[in-house]
Amino acid sequence: MDFAISEEHEFFRSTVRDAVDRLIRPRIKEIDETNEFPTELWKEFAALGYLGLRHPEKYGGMEADTVTSMIFYEELARGSCGFAMSVTMQILMGTYFVGRFGSDAIKERVLIPAIRGEKIGTICFTEDQSGSDLGGTRTSAVEKDDGWVLNGRKMWITNGPVCDFCTVLATVDPKLGMKGLSFFLVEKGSKGFSTGQKLDKLGSRGSVTGELLFDNVWVPKENLLGEGPGGGVQYATDILNEVRVMTALNACAIANEAMSDARGYALEREAFGKPIARYQLIRAKFAEHWAWYEAARLYAYQAAWMIQEGQDCQHQCMLAKMFATEMCQKSVDEATRIYGGNSFAMEYAQQRFFRDARFLLFGGGCHEVLKNALGAAYLRKGSS
Ligand SMILES: Cc1cc2nc3c(=O)[nH]c(=O)nc-3n(C[C@H](O)[C@H](O)[C@H](O)COP(=O)(O)OP(=O)(O)OC[C@H]3O[C@@H](n4cnc5c(N)ncnc54)[C@H](O)[C@@H]3O)c2cc1C
Repeated sequence: MDFAISEEHEFFRSTVRDAVDRLIRPRIKEIDETNEFPTELWKEFAALGYLGLRHPEKYGGMEADTVTSMIFYEELARGSCGFAMSVTMQILMGTYFVGRFGSDAIKERVLIPAIRGEKIGTICFTEDQSGSDLGGTRTSAVEKDDGWVLNGRKMWITNGPVCDFCTVLATVDPKLGMKGLSFFLVEKGSKGFSTGQKLDKLGSRGSVTGELLFDNVWVPKENLLGEGPGGGVQYATDILNEVRVMTALNACAIANEAMSDARGYALEREAFGKPIARYQLIRAKFAEHWAWYEAARLYAYQAAWMIQEGQDCQHQCMLAKMFATEMCQKSVDEATRIYGGNSFAMEYAQQRFFRDARFLLFGGGCHEVLKNALGAAYLRKGSS
């Protein structure tokens, strides 16, 4: 076994860290308070080329390996979680389908500008009545005039209010359930495509989230992304492995930020004549965080490496996401306890870590759903 991180990876981490420290961290509070998409920051960040992290060099991307991408996602989450959500949406789900299945013309029109940060993308699975249960999708796609007509309404769409294009999950026949699902590219300016309400969120603010409406939107045949109708869910599963490990590393970053901040507080804050860091129950919180955090991080990077090696690792990615996210909930909770009443004050960052961490429980699969699938897999074949 070799756990060493290469010099290239370390160098890449320090470069991203520097960009996050310079460009994002000074704006965290403002992004959280306004809940507005930070357009200037987006442009500055895009200019560094990171939006093309996973995409081929011939389209202007960096073509980074999976471990490198995960280093990026971990460092990014040290800044604003909202901004990290917008950026990771663009890099992963938002451009995955156009990158994998788009025609040359689509790549020219959509992917290349997205890599440059000139166009913003997103993915649309969720509807009012169906989140985890994709088989309940009602947005429909009907063949017409050498193309498809889409009708429906998507909710909770990251980057939705500012998107220039979106990949939309729709059913070609609701009776087919999961087997009737396909992905379609819809671009801003298409007749019948509009944005609805923008949501006011608890955490990860600044990644603007909202509703997208499709009212008889016609798209040409080539906008069906993937082979023939009905292949949608399998394609989503392919990219979900990366999304889950990315979420795990976001969780590690948030947990570590919260506890590092609490460490400074514990060393300074006095109670009963000495710093609270001198009390065993406070020290225990740091010891437990340390152990869980290290384990979660190792687990996530192992899963990243398995993806990179092309191994079958769907369960490892689910486990890594579940474990790191639960670790993060515990760490942000303990960090607020260390802060005592001050954790409730908006002037300290602890309340933001606590709020931001909640989204991780749902993005990339709700934990109850993951546990259901993992429990069933364990019962079938035990652990690997
Ligand atoms: C900030 C934010 C950004 C988002 N961005 C996007 C986006 O860009 N695009 C997009 O498509 N969606 C997005 N979503 C939606 C997100 O993907 C859904 O919230 C998620 O899929 C869960 O769906 P749901 O909220 O409808 O919960 P539901 O599926 O209704 O689940 C509710 C509860 O029931 C449990 N449950 C459901 N099914 C089972 C089961 N089989 N076994 C056990 N328990 C079960 C769940 O675990 C959960 O506890 C976003 C959500 C948030 C909060």
